Amino acid sequence: RAKERGKNGYCFYNSDMNEESMKKLTLETELELAIKNDDLVLHYQPQIDLQTNQIIGMEALLRWNHPQLGLIPPSDFIPIAEEMGLMVILGEWVLSQGCRQMKTWHDQGLTSLKISINLSPQEFLKQRLVDKVKQVLLDTGLTPNCLELEITESMTMDVIRSTSILEELSELGIQIAIDDFGKGFSSLNYLKNFHIHRLKIDRSFIHDMISGPKDAKIVGTIISIAHALNLKVIAEGVENEEQLLFLRNLNCDEIQGFYYSKPLPAIEIERKYILNSSRGVIQL
Ligand code: C2E
Ligand code: MG
Ligand code: MG
Ligand code: MG
Repeated sequence: RAKERGKNGYCFYNSDMNEESMKKLTLETELELAIKNDDLVLHYQPQIDLQTNQIIGMEALLRWNHPQLGLIPPSDFIPIAEEMGLMVILGEWVLSQGCRQMKTWHDQGLTSLKISINLSPQEFLKQRLVDKVKQVLLDTGLTPNCLELEITESMTMDVIRSTSILEELSELGIQIAIDDFGKGFSSLNYLKNFHIHRLKIDRSFIHDMISGPKDAKIVGTIISIAHALNLKVIAEGVENEEQLLFLRNLNCDEIQGFYYSKPLPAIEIERKYILNSSRGVIQL
């Protein structure tokens, strides 16, 4: 993809671009290998109910365990994977791995925990998404209402198409959350037309809410609208107690963020939380 093109359509790369495109090419090849070699891992971040102080779910967050570079965050490779069309394969892996892990935790007694899985735009608009989800539920034996798919507002620009996909997904019994709510082109129409269960307030509002009266008002208003429409609200990016108390005062249902826990590998989630659970609940 050349940024500069000659008159006759030939590409003239300068050395910088050459280096950049080489780096990308390497990353592309390596990413394909990573899928084959099982170098991808999911970390899990607990989601907490503010009324009961119990962990009610985990969001699965993808990392690439690179043999030389170490743990690579999703922001460094998901855009490339999207561009390469690899996100569908990656997404399939995330979905089945996440559901399988959650089924294991259910089998250990935590039968009401849900797993939240992020979808990419490519996956969401793919014809076979509904079939794939159905198949993964069958293969893993996970209860459908313990699977939540997270989509963003920007994925749902094609309203007619999105409405029918979300309806089909809801018919499977799974839950749908709008991720990063407020960050994109939020439209009340979405809330009216779409089959959704939960709003995740974007962490930028949570970050600014204590110092910024506008952000605080926006957060409060999102919570009111959601509740009026019988939707749950979760705040993402909660980093301190002040934010937690503020959200509790606004009747926010659930929170997720570094204050309670950063995303952790499954083994650490087990050590910290699963082993300390009793009667099927993780009480904090
Ligand atoms: P997201 O879905 O909005 O995930 C929340 C991000 O916020 C995660 O970053 C998480 O580590 C981070 N986070 C959680 N609590 C806090 C906090 O208290 N403070 C701050 N500053 N950050 C917090 P992460 O894991 O780097 O993921 C970034 C994004 O990459 C995700 O945003 C999601 O859009 C995408 N992503 C991650 N895993 C997947 C995946 O399996 N599939 C797809 N399609 N996208 C993914
Ligand atoms: Mg998310
Ligand atoms: Mg989010
Ligand atoms: Mg976010």
